[in-house]
Amino acid sequence: MDEKGAKFIFVTGGVLSSLGKGLASACIGALLESRGLTVTLQKLDPYINVDPGTMNPFQHGEVFVTDDGTEADLDLGHYERFTHARLGHNNNFTTGKIYDIVITKERRGDYLGGTVQVIPHITDQIKDSIRLVAKGVDVVIVEIGGTIGDIESLPFLEAIRQFRADAGKENVLYVHLTLVPYIGKAGELKTKPTQHSVKELRSIGIQPDILLCRTDRFLSKDIKAKIAMFCNVGTDAVITAKDVDCIYEVPLIYHNEGLDSKIVELLNIWTRTPRLENWEQLCRGLKEPEYEVNIAVVGKYVDLTESYKSLNEALVHGGLSNHCRVTLTYVDSESLTGDNCAGMLDKSDGILVPGGFGSRGIEGKICAARYARENKIPYFGICLGMQIAVVEFARNVAGMQGAHSSEIDLDTPFPVIYLMTEWFDDQRQALQKRDANSAKGGTMRLGAYPCTLQKDTLAYTAYGQTEISERHRHRYEFNNEYRSRLEESGMVVSGTSPKGDLVEIIEIKDHPWYLGCQFHPEFKSRPMTPHPLFQAFIKAALVYSGFRKA
Ligand code: GLN
Repeated sequence: MDEKGAKFIFVTGGVLSSLGKGLASACIGALLESRGLTVTLQKLDPYINVDPGTMNPFQHGEVFVTDDGTEADLDLGHYERFTHARLGHNNNFTTGKIYDIVITKERRGDYLGGTVQVIPHITDQIKDSIRLVAKGVDVVIVEIGGTIGDIESLPFLEAIRQFRADAGKENVLYVHLTLVPYIGKAGELKTKPTQHSVKELRSIGIQPDILLCRTDRFLSKDIKAKIAMFCNVGTDAVITAKDVDCIYEVPLIYHNEGLDSKIVELLNIWTRTPRLENWEQLCRGLKEPEYEVNIAVVGKYVDLTESYKSLNEALVHGGLSNHCRVTLTYVDSESLTGDNCAGMLDKSDGILVPGGFGSRGIEGKICAARYARENKIPYFGICLGMQIAVVEFARNVAGMQGAHSSEIDLDTPFPVIYLMTEWFDDQRQALQKRDANSAKGGTMRLGAYPCTLQKDTLAYTAYGQTEISERHRHRYEFNNEYRSRLEESGMVVSGTSPKGDLVEIIEIKDHPWYLGCQFHPEFKSRPMTPHPLFQAFIKAALVYSGFRKA
């Protein structure tokens, strides 16, 4: 289908945040794909940051990275995990990014003579950005961040309101996610918040076509009829979005509620009947695991699991392929010391140190890496977790006392991890330069880079091939000056850039499974195709556990 042929579904949210709009949008994508349609997804975020790359994960959750090196909202992670859509810089726009484009145009003189205004200039730019992703797909699903009633989201809502008139009535659908709370004292489900939220939406000119009602129990016919009447939608367009234990059940629940058939009916698309056997099989696998392993995730953002969204999912996927439930324990690295590691980590069948920035909790992470190495517990270090493993090995095995990453200690005698100031980036065909004063936004090594694996290594065993591609998001690199000394002490460099100049994966000899990678494999793991390194890590943890039954 060409751009003209694409249909658009806009997903908004009401009542309160965190109802799972991103997941809902991803599940709509999964259901449409199960009917043989091609989809793409886009997130429009009302905040002013140009991208979430500079935001603290405590505030905003994980920063998801796409192949093209876009630092994106974590909802893009849901989209890629639930659908086959491959996303990039056009799939996430923020207010900041839209204004940046409009202001650049204004300075260039594109609007000469005109007064540049929110309507039509900002709203036109938003509509253009939506059309950018419509090429070659049947359906574009656009999620609007924030909650109806927020001041910031108004230009986006105005743009999608206009979009229906531009694209044609039967090509555009509005789906609104709301909350239907159960009030225990009254013994009743309450529809008023939904009524108010829809009223608010209608006051800005958008009449939703479908309501996804987040609730803890299935809505009765009567409740659906009441919501339908007050909100001016068909009763069969009121869908129960029931709470679930496992997110991969959501497409099945939506389907049983008739969501996908209502969507294709309203958009007037003819499709085959949906095939959902793979989702059913996935849920069965998750509900009836044979084994169980405990994994300790040693990190800084431990009190907010949103910061490790893709990581958590990738671990679940790795468990799935091993018929194994993965129980995660988040260990705050600030509380770990050389003396208490044994007490805090002895229930773990595997230790994982994820990505991170800054010095807080670093020594605790180094203790965890040492504990895993000395006690032959499977260890998986991701990005910062790999850098930590190199520092630990340099200090405690290769005799480089005081070794560190120059991110943390600028005066270390052994900067085994360092800031590369100038290099030629083959991927982008450009000379890259940076120093400690470089701008922070969008200046890391970002996105997909090729990596060549050495045979007879854990990495090669996991991937089963020598050429791989993985996504990066970091500034600091393995320092080749110390490579031979580390290798002589038993470190194995199992993956490098094709030319061999960037170290991408390290392992250590005489350990059942100890691997650190400079990239973020979690961004490419899918429930249907778990990532090879997560499969291998969980397998090693399972062996370590002695195949403990679930
Ligand atoms: N802080 C480290 C760097 O910038 C690691 C980054 C990460 O773990 N994503 O290189």
